[in-house]
Amino acid sequence: MLELLFLLLPVAAGYGWFMGRNSVKQKDQSEKQDLSIKYSTGLNYLLSNQQDKAIDHLIEALKVENDTVEAHFALANLFRRRGELDRALKVHEHLVRHANLPNKEKQQAVFELAKDFLSAGLYDRAEKMFIKSLKSKGYECKALTYLMQIYQSTKDWQQGIALKKAIVKSKDKKLLHSLANFYCELATQALEKDDFIQVLELLESALNYDKNSCRANWLMAKIYENHQQFNEAATCYRDIYKQDRDFFQDVIDKMHFCYQQLSAEDEFFAFIKKVYEETGSTSALIKYVSFIEDTKGSIKAKEYMLMALKKRPTIRGFKHFVKMQINEVEQDAPHENLAVITELISAYLQVKPRYSCRTCGFNTSTHYWACPSCHDWEQIKPVRGLEGE
Ligand SMILES: [Zn+2]
Repeated sequence: MLELLFLLLPVAAGYGWFMGRNSVKQKDQSEKQDLSIKYSTGLNYLLSNQQDKAIDHLIEALKVENDTVEAHFALANLFRRRGELDRALKVHEHLVRHANLPNKEKQQAVFELAKDFLSAGLYDRAEKMFIKSLKSKGYECKALTYLMQIYQSTKDWQQGIALKKAIVKSKDKKLLHSLANFYCELATQALEKDDFIQVLELLESALNYDKNSCRANWLMAKIYENHQQFNEAATCYRDIYKQDRDFFQDVIDKMHFCYQQLSAEDEFFAFIKKVYEETGSTSALIKYVSFIEDTKGSIKAKEYMLMALKKRPTIRGFKHFVKMQINEVEQDAPHENLAVITELISAYLQVKPRYSCRTCGFNTSTHYWACPSCHDWEQIKPVRGLEGE
């Protein structure tokens, strides 16, 4: 009897295999049926102009398989571009949750999901996902860029600085530039408390990560000036000229003040003359002409100004030239006409933006360290050309 039972074992195994295969077939068939129902329901919604419902059904019908992964990403990106973030999130979450997705696609899905959260303004969730992406090969630099953007928006400077090791490792110039500006933000806070040592330490770190950060030198000059260290402040202003000639125009008056305190105006004007010759800047020209006026008289100053305007005409330069004429003919009748001309030029210049962003072209009358439009650091600089410098 027992032997008979043993003889039945292969039969039982065969039956089990047969039934199992049938159940897989049945499962496949029922899944196919489900999918065809979802497709046909989706199409029905589409035909009856109910696009929202149609898209939801079609997303569900699109099964995640190796050959449909790209279609999922393309669909989700399309949703995001159209501002339909809930749908983009749904597709990317669907991919992230999928157990058998290859590692490369999974990493891509995590990164794209983080971008969805960021677009939706869900910074906490975006931050978590981007931190995950930091470990994914090929996504380190992009994830760092987005994380720095998040910390910039939330003014979480310390969190950004905590990424310094990864940023240095990335060797990305833009990221290093952002990192330097995060240090400058903390230095600005320390400057308000007049914490001399802390300001200098923070700014040295900023310059260590980005030696071209003219903002760091600008802040350093400020703290030195506050503490009557005019020689050090003057050095910072000279460094700004080496770092960024466009931005330098904004510090000419402050630099002049330092040299006045040091009783070294001749040295200052020699430097300004060099700046004018190298850049053609109107601010440097006006400053240098005031020196000629003081040392050689108004006729020589006017001659110099006229020659400079012929070489490179600017509206600000012309306004200064008219002012020089007014001073000369103060007692005579034409004075009134000239005053009207300067008023007109002033009114014209007032409506013109003084600064523009070198990255996105955003125009403004106020200077910002981070562009309000594209959020790039230190790209807002004085306008050049006829209506500017
Ligand atoms: Zn910009």
